[in-house]
Amino acid sequence: MLFIVPTPIGNLEDITFRAIRILKEADLILAEDTRTSKKLLQHYDIATPLKSYHAHNEHASIDYLIEQLQEGARLALISDAGTPGISDPGFLITRACVQQGIPVECLPGATAFVPALVASGLPCDKFHFEGFLPHKKGRQTRLIYLSELPHTFVLYESPHRLLKCLNQLESFCGAERMACVARELTKVHQEIKTDSLKKLLEHFGQKKIKGEIVIVVSGKN
Ligand code: SAM
Repeated sequence: MLFIVPTPIGNLEDITFRAIRILKEADLILAEDTRTSKKLLQHYDIATPLKSYHAHNEHASIDYLIEQLQEGARLALISDAGTPGISDPGFLITRACVQQGIPVECLPGATAFVPALVASGLPCDKFHFEGFLPHKKGRQTRLIYLSELPHTFVLYESPHRLLKCLNQLESFCGAERMACVARELTKVHQEIKTDSLKKLLEHFGQKKIKGEIVIVVSGKN
């Protein structure tokens, strides 16, 4: 059985009792960055062996891991933060398990886009999750598509690209379109600011931007 286990996006308390039990009982934990995950596992006294599983070795690892699962191993997949498979490795092994009839259990838990979307105060009855925009090729096509969506959309962005991204959103969606920048969610310096794109640019243009960021943009009209 493959368990997909969400881990905190900042605050170490944001992990479920079940997630801790599954991580303790697993034969092996597949982790994106074993050094990062060791800190979390030590905090919760989890002594399960770790194996590295990340974007650069996931293709090559699949056959071996499927063999292990078919022999009855209980594997738990975690990423550096949040839910594996959401802008993180996880899709390929899940698809392989589904194709091979190996049960997959994804635990509910931490992910960055849900608190950003819900706390933004922008409509969240319908939404589109975009994740990271391509840096160069295809970026403009995605921005045109997003700017026409009738419902709220959600982007992941790095701090050093925030202003570029807000500027482009302003060009494609208009200066008065409402949006939210959710920064450092669940951490000490959490900041959640909802305003027009124009006002957000003024606000974030005046300071050094640090930390992890989710951008939520309301739909057209
Ligand atoms: N798997 C994760 C999830 O479930 O949200 C996402 C992993 S993705 C590689 C990392 C991105 O998620 C960051 O660049 C940022 O956009 C967003 N993110 C992660 N933690 C965050 C936090 N505490 N506050 C704001 N955004 C965060």
